[in-house]
Amino acid sequence: MDEAPRRVLDRLGIRPRKSLGQHFLVDSRVALRHVDHARIGPSDTVLEIGPGLGVLTRLLAERARHVVAIEADRRFAAYLRESLPGVEVIEGDALTIQWPRFDIMASNLPYQISSPLTFRLLDKPFRRAVLMYQWEFARRMIAKPGTADYSRLSVGVYRQSSCEILERVPRNAFHPQPRVDSALVRLEPRPAPFPIADPERYDAVVDALFQHRRKTVENGLRFGWKAVATSRVALEAVLPAVPFRTRRVEELSPEEIGRIADAIGMAKG
Ligand code: SAM
Repeated sequence: MDEAPRRVLDRLGIRPRKSLGQHFLVDSRVALRHVDHARIGPSDTVLEIGPGLGVLTRLLAERARHVVAIEADRRFAAYLRESLPGVEVIEGDALTIQWPRFDIMASNLPYQISSPLTFRLLDKPFRRAVLMYQWEFARRMIAKPGTADYSRLSVGVYRQSSCEILERVPRNAFHPQPRVDSALVRLEPRPAPFPIADPERYDAVVDALFQHRRKTVENGLRFGWKAVATSRVALEAVLPAVPFRTRRVEELSPEEIGRIADAIGMAKG
């Protein structure tokens, strides 16, 4: 970093916007470790979401063949185009605009979009992602069945990738300082570690069940019947064949949900 982020903000007369999750990384050692963890090769294309003042972007550009950065705030998009001309800066909302093909994602994510962004990422082909999340969110990503943090997110992440918390990053590594610590997380896609007949149906069953994670499977499915069956009657017809139906949703492993989804398949079809 040539100039400290606080000073750049002052010079540009920019006040960070809370609504866009603007907490800038001011600890250059964390930025270096972040980029190291991504293990970028010289032929890689890297996608960064929310480059802000370019603390990570600059380091990424030194290592990658090509860096594409998607930034929602026009003030930063303009600043980056000028200060890092080799980087392709796209101004827009990373949740809605089309992403280019990429090998690696490295980003300090705005916390408001962590969940939809992660689900969107997991549906794309890529080799590795190293992302900064709020600490609690990262804990939910790796949570095990039966724990308070276990959620639709934990199941979705487990189904599609390996996921590891690399380090806890204290809140004072950012400006303005957020209220909670962060975590650097590495995701690497891999095939589901258990058989899934129909991934779309699996995701629909996960969505329906986790609307009511404390209910039993059968009651959860009754509440969410629209997502998994053509009618209530069709669901009731198949329920006796559904395994684990008296267990609570929050206690089911991703594999067990897979067996439920396969049994439900008959109700939908
Ligand atoms: N990468 C910078 C850093 O580490 O200092 C900034 C990180 S800051 C946590 C998040 C950045 O994401 C901000 O620059 C913000 O403007 C941008 N942002 C917020 N919502 C966005 C969205 N929907 N799409 C793209 N960028 C977004």
